[in-house]
Amino acid sequence: MPIGGGAPVAVQTMTKTETANLSATMEQIERVAEAGADIVRVAVPRDKDIEALKVIVKKSPIPIIADIHFNHTLALKAIEAGADCIRLNPGNIGGRDKVAEVAELANKRGTPMRIGVNSGSLPKHLHELERENSVEALVTAGVEFVELMEGLDFTNFKVSIKSTNVPNTIAANRLLSEKIPYPIHLGITEAGTKWSGSLKSAVGLGALLADDIGDTIRISLSTFHAEEEVKVAWEILKALQLRERGPVLIACPTCGRLQFDMDAVTMEVEQRLESYDEAIEVAVLGCAVNGIGEAKHADFGIAGAKNEGVVFAGGKAIKKVKTEELVDALFKEIDLSLDRGGKVEFDEQQSAEGAAWVAKIEEENAGDLTPEKIAAMEHEASQKEENDKLLPDEDASPTAGRRFTRA
Ligand code: SF4
Repeated sequence: MPIGGGAPVAVQTMTKTETANLSATMEQIERVAEAGADIVRVAVPRDKDIEALKVIVKKSPIPIIADIHFNHTLALKAIEAGADCIRLNPGNIGGRDKVAEVAELANKRGTPMRIGVNSGSLPKHLHELERENSVEALVTAGVEFVELMEGLDFTNFKVSIKSTNVPNTIAANRLLSEKIPYPIHLGITEAGTKWSGSLKSAVGLGALLADDIGDTIRISLSTFHAEEEVKVAWEILKALQLRERGPVLIACPTCGRLQFDMDAVTMEVEQRLESYDEAIEVAVLGCAVNGIGEAKHADFGIAGAKNEGVVFAGGKAIKKVKTEELVDALFKEIDLSLDRGGKVEFDEQQSAEGAAWVAKIEEENAGDLTPEKIAAMEHEASQKEENDKLLPDEDASPTAGRRFTRA
């Protein structure tokens, strides 16, 4: 699994099980791999975890990173056990000689490392700097570790400097990326629960990834279901169009025009889409007041009303169906199209009926100011404002009266 050097941003997570519990750990690794993890980390705090690690590295469908703290002997054993990568904080492993021993063996075996620190584990000599400027302290720790490893002739590593603080994470990684040429592992440490942790991670990692900083990401969530971290990581990468994996769901925010149970429908569509690998875009619209509107570009979509709705593809109606049949009809069309290699076939009569239904709803609500219409009007107004700015203001012009006016 290449990290850095222009390779796609890799998704990683960490198992939440006791590594020595082989069946539970393997089960979780299988689950995260299925959810799209490229790499997975396992904690190795005891000798019995090393025994499990020997089996895990052979059975795992994805590369395994051994997470080691405080004990360089375990790092050596993990490399011998065949770990694909070692995660190490060179500051807490017992001094330069011990780091050197690990680096030497890792060099010999070709085992890469992730080196770095979290805001909570900065070396003592940086504590004062941390009080004054925590970003500077994090970056200094990262750069010092890089120099330490370079001094040991070991450069097969990626670097992480993590903080629980989003602005600090952004600032520190921006600075770090200017100072070192090595791949960077991004994460917000102890981000929180699935809801708040996902948002914090999306904001922090999103800002960095959008600036092309970061080569692998881990979302840290307080959940025993590591696959949830993977799903969030993928949503961030998909939102930034950095990688494609499976469908993208778009859904209107709903408003007072909504005429059916959009929450339940969107949830069902999202769930059913989880079993698809294809990168299709699927839209769910709460009404057809704006026609197919902003979902024109979606590969497939539905727009519903009280009793009826329409299934569409690529901005064109496929058919009109009863509201309660919308979701099944949508998935039937998706499946048929995928069976045909992505081609959608339109039955002329059914498509015309669907289009007529949409046109009727649009016409009935022509005067309605929907969120989409307001957005379009605002856009038009801002365009006009921009254009007006380009024209000189005759009265304010110092040359007013001394030249021909536009009138
Ligand atoms: S008007 Fe727009 S936001 Fe409101 S329900 Fe219809 S599609 Fe959704």
